[in-house]
Amino acid sequence: MIHFSHVTKTYEESWKALRDVTLRIRKGEFVFLTGHSGAGKSTLLKMIYMDERPDNVRGGQVMVRLGDSVYDSKTSPDNSIQGFRRKMGVVFQDFKLLPDRNVFENVAFALRIVGKKPKEINAAVFEALALVGISQKRFAMPYTLSGGEQQRVAIARAMVHNPYLLIADEPTGNLDPKNAEEVFAIFKEINARGTTVVMATHNPDFYLNSPFRRLELKQGELLNKEIL
Ligand code: ADP
Repeated sequence: MIHFSHVTKTYEESWKALRDVTLRIRKGEFVFLTGHSGAGKSTLLKMIYMDERPDNVRGGQVMVRLGDSVYDSKTSPDNSIQGFRRKMGVVFQDFKLLPDRNVFENVAFALRIVGKKPKEINAAVFEALALVGISQKRFAMPYTLSGGEQQRVAIARAMVHNPYLLIADEPTGNLDPKNAEEVFAIFKEINARGTTVVMATHNPDFYLNSPFRRLELKQGELLNKEIL
């Protein structure tokens, strides 16, 4: 589903945020992405959700298959990216909710933009809110919610269009241990229902006691290299 072939990303003249990264993530997998701050985790995730591309010269290639469509960092034009993004969900450490809209509207927003019918929107939003266990707060404004609740809303928003892939960049970084554990449990449930999950995390409690694969970055290099 995700294939990196010798991917290198240089932000400034010589500093390489990713160096010759080759990896494959299969459909239905749950994969952790770990490494110290600055190791390149966010950059790697941005390559997957098409916010960055590899270097033009000797930067390698990223391919992401989402259902019938295949994104290719070498050939897919910028104006195709919005279409690919609708087939994936992204969750961040800082939630990124719209502060002036209630929970329901935050989750409904993306569906309204693409012109879905109100009935379809209602059904999809209720299903997503139920998935993360926050239906009872559907009329609440984000600032009245705890961090854990805000992150649940952000996950519901990411899941509302039934994505093939869920990407999470330190999703529990701002949460206390109990909420972090609960949010992690939601990601596992989402994966058990068939969505591929890629999650960057600092939390060893998650990846050390877990059957899921871990990709570890150090200064832009993937430590556990695979032969592909
Ligand atoms: P992580 O998510 O593991 O903390 P990042 O991918 O955010 O790592 O960063 C990797 C390296 O690239 C860091 O040295 C960071 O300072 C640098 N970097 C990230 N984004 C940019 C940017 N937009 N411009 C310049 N340098 C950046």
